[in-house]
Amino acid sequence: MDADLIKLVNKLQDTFANLGGELDMPQLAVVGSQSAGKSSVLETIVGRDFLPRGQGIVTRRPLVLQLIHTPAPDPATSNQTYTEWGQFLHIDKRFTDFDAIRKEIEQETYRVAGQNKGISKLPIHLRIYSPDVLDLTLVDLPGLTKIPVGDQPSDIERQIRSLVLDYISKPNSIILAVSAANVDLANSESLKLARSVDPQGRRTIGVLTKLDLMDAGTNALDILTGRVYPLKLGFIGVVGRSQQDIISGKSMVDALESEAEFFRSHAAYRNIAHKNGTKYLARTLNHVLMNHIRDKLPDMKARLNTLMGQAQQELNSFGDAAIYGDANQVSLLLSAGRIRYHNAPQQGSLVLRLMTQFARDFVSSIEGTNMDISTKELSGGARIYYIFNDVFGHALASIDATHNLDNQDIRTAIRNSTGPRPSLFVPEIAFDLLVKPQIKLLEAPSLRCVELVYEELVKICHNCTSAELQRFPRLHAQLVEVVSELLRERLGPTTEYTQSLIDIQTAYINTNHPAFISGSAAAAQAASQAPPKQAPPRMTLTTPRMRWEV
Ligand code: GDP
Ligand code: MG
Repeated sequence: MDADLIKLVNKLQDTFANLGGELDMPQLAVVGSQSAGKSSVLETIVGRDFLPRGQGIVTRRPLVLQLIHTPAPDPATSNQTYTEWGQFLHIDKRFTDFDAIRKEIEQETYRVAGQNKGISKLPIHLRIYSPDVLDLTLVDLPGLTKIPVGDQPSDIERQIRSLVLDYISKPNSIILAVSAANVDLANSESLKLARSVDPQGRRTIGVLTKLDLMDAGTNALDILTGRVYPLKLGFIGVVGRSQQDIISGKSMVDALESEAEFFRSHAAYRNIAHKNGTKYLARTLNHVLMNHIRDKLPDMKARLNTLMGQAQQELNSFGDAAIYGDANQVSLLLSAGRIRYHNAPQQGSLVLRLMTQFARDFVSSIEGTNMDISTKELSGGARIYYIFNDVFGHALASIDATHNLDNQDIRTAIRNSTGPRPSLFVPEIAFDLLVKPQIKLLEAPSLRCVELVYEELVKICHNCTSAELQRFPRLHAQLVEVVSELLRERLGPTTEYTQSLIDIQTAYINTNHPAFISGSAAAAQAASQAPPKQAPPRMTLTTPRMRWEV
């Protein structure tokens, strides 16, 4: 596309981006029946081979293609060897090979829309970065069909229609209504659909593909000269690469050349050759975009002024003296349009202050001295108390001390531990043996408690966002990351510590502990509870933490 336009729009867009707004550029959406040549047209507009094309339903998810103008890297300062690349939203990888981009589009289509002709509304987002493109968004859409095939649901026609309408009904979109010349225009689905959202044909460009495939003796002259169907932006005929050309790998340059040759040498089109072809289509689009920008320019100017005013006000409200020094200097910098952070020592003190504030917020939300305490849900320190007291407490209380132990087990353990002699007293070894695994039951809830407290601490750290810190999202993200990392580092040792506490209790059962009810006391307690006759003798043993009824 036109280099001047590229420069102009990029300048405008940069200005807007710097001010936090964006220049609202039209989106080009292609509509047409299946295999009409939509993907082929889009590709030639972009000037690169990267879209899957072919017979049958190939485009099965919308492809939102953002072209992003990037200046070519300076070979003197950069060792980047490529100037153009693609990047998908769904994977973090730069594609410099456009064939690989095509493969990725195919795979990503399979992944969501299945192997068998199904379609999906979920768009694939692809950005192409190149020095030769205009910042512009193009949308490739599945073709309009009538009859379900493969996995397609019975209402496939309606589904595709509503999907396409989503994109073309936006007043800001330019519709490329693609029809194949070898199908009668009266049957053109794309024009019908375009008319339903753009009745006056103001933002619809008719594109007639496959002029080379028309029946011998027929031509599309009447259509191309606008005598058949009125569109303000007119009809443009193109000749794309046939399937054979695709298979034999015909290059884009060759294709453009043979297209030009086709129009030049065709008896019917010779006189309108200069108003047809892909190059002319690109130029027309250029023109449409230019007009669009011209229409928007007064608006944009007004918006720029408002944005500038707002930015200035916002800046003032931050009390810039903290960063830039004295107020006079700030206004001087502002008027010179040079707002840069270049006062390093003061910057340092600002960062330090924000970090201290962050630490203070963290502590105060744990201690409950935070200014804005929620009345709707527990937070901070109160949550931690809740975790210890309620969650952990309940988990402990709900442990069945004799889980997996019945009288038979106990008897067997006692008999085993006395060897060949009959037992007189309850042997300690049997007690130890039976009790140890039961103490281990405490471990799972304890570790869970550690985890919950850890999660809560991470949450608290995420919530420590003072209004001032919000102004520096990168610093905030970094702080949260570092603190979360510190917390995560402590998670391991805390877990080990908890495990070792349990191990300590298991390794040495302190029968001398005041809370331990020894054999005789237990017997007395059992007697005072007046057990029913014939009941087996009961014995209650209590470790410092748990009560055992045997
Ligand atoms: P889509 O389904 O509308 O996206 O159509 P594609 O771009 O995938 O094209 C469908 C088939 O038509 C492909 O095999 C193309 O090679 C072929 N095709 C597209 N445009 C032309 C054209 O102008 N002339 C010829 N002969 N074949 C074309
Ligand atoms: Mg397609």
